[in-house]
Amino acid sequence: MLNIFFRLVFLALAMAFAAAVGALVDPEYGAVGGAILVSLWVYFLQARSGLKILRWLDDFRLDNVPLVAGWWDDLSAKLFKYLKLHQRQQQALSNTLASFRTAAQALPDGVVTLDTHGHIIWCNGTAQKHLGLKLSTDIGQPLINLVRFPDFSKYLSSKSWDAPLVMRAPRNNQKILSIQAVSYGDGQMLVLTRDVTKLEKLERMRRDFIANVSHELKTPLTVLSGFLETFRDLPLSEEQRTEYLNLMYGQATRMQNLVEDLLTLSSLESGSPQGDGEPVDLSALAQRIVDEAVQVSGGKHQINVVQIKPDLYCEGNEAELYSAFLNIATNAVRYTPDGGTITLELGSMGSELGTGKQAYFRVKDTGIGIPPEHIPRLTERFYRVDRSRSRESGGTGLGLAIVKHVVSRHDGELLITSTPQVGSTFEIHLPACKSPLKFPSNTSKDSVAVNA
Ligand code: ADP
Repeated sequence: MLNIFFRLVFLALAMAFAAAVGALVDPEYGAVGGAILVSLWVYFLQARSGLKILRWLDDFRLDNVPLVAGWWDDLSAKLFKYLKLHQRQQQALSNTLASFRTAAQALPDGVVTLDTHGHIIWCNGTAQKHLGLKLSTDIGQPLINLVRFPDFSKYLSSKSWDAPLVMRAPRNNQKILSIQAVSYGDGQMLVLTRDVTKLEKLERMRRDFIANVSHELKTPLTVLSGFLETFRDLPLSEEQRTEYLNLMYGQATRMQNLVEDLLTLSSLESGSPQGDGEPVDLSALAQRIVDEAVQVSGGKHQINVVQIKPDLYCEGNEAELYSAFLNIATNAVRYTPDGGTITLELGSMGSELGTGKQAYFRVKDTGIGIPPEHIPRLTERFYRVDRSRSRESGGTGLGLAIVKHVVSRHDGELLITSTPQVGSTFEIHLPACKSPLKFPSNTSKDSVAVNA
């Protein structure tokens, strides 16, 4: 208000001054002329300032504020302040947007934002990988035109997004994606993608496992109940009774082996190795395995021992290592026809302890061998090359799965090489450790007690 008052006073004084000067020049019309001239001059100045402001508003930037006079100066000051505030708010907004995008970019899941028509507004790198998109060229395109899957289009247009859609990745058949759409704002849409390949694989393995266990248990149970029925309904001779009882015993043993192997697998998967850290005498263990192999073979094979290196130890669990060694040795006997040769060896490779010295237990047979395509899958549960042969020889299909678990719990490795009709070699490699005999436990215990 004060500003307006001063401006009016200034204008009045300027007009009065011009009128006084005009009256001096021409007493008759000079005063009016002077006042008109001042008014025109003021009008010209205001019009020029107004034009400058109009031109400024065309690009409205902070760095080209015009120099204007009078009322316009107040207006330009106000506009300048507004522009600065607006720019500050815009900067804050774009900083927030940038940080949101950086966060969304870092997400392990894919994110695509769509406008009300389903056109891409933005997507992160993971979504580009999952859906085969390229933001630079696909922005503004309808997503369903770029991901051409009927299920995907149906899911997006259905608007019932309670559950995610599970589908194969558009550019990679091996990958399985979970797609979840969410609506937000005013009809916009967020599409989230997640790689669930591993989860799906686990789920499939779980389903297969249950189906396999049920099947493996059902078969001997059916046979058993068949025999029981025969016992109940038919008069049998002593000879028949003995034969059937033996067959029933065989089926019951099969079920027992299966349940025992399942329990072993489950305890291997759930717990840490018992007695972990105890030195296990591999040389003694290998000798026991040789004796077992001779017994299982029952003289039907030639069992050779290349060497059993003395004084070889490995840290771990003796019972677990025994079962792993025994498994590959008995497999060699079971899958080698009578008259074949089975060669066992316990040796070591690598230099000194602590620099990668490894103990290995090798079982070589001249058996039926394994076609190469089966080798990578042998350690899967219930995987068998020849189902009937495995069952006939009392196999559960879990042996090598157990071996693999035991070996990996001992930081070791299982190596398999085989040639069909020639034979197979199974090798367990384990990190060797110091012999406890070099530091007898009594002595060390005593010395601890003395020192204490
Ligand atoms: P199984 O109880 O059936 O023997 P394993 O897990 O021990 O189960 O072995 C898986 C499959 O690997 C076997 O069914 C068999 O086909 C194959 N296999 C294992 N060891 C040998 C071997 N020494 N020679 C030939 N085939 C073998």
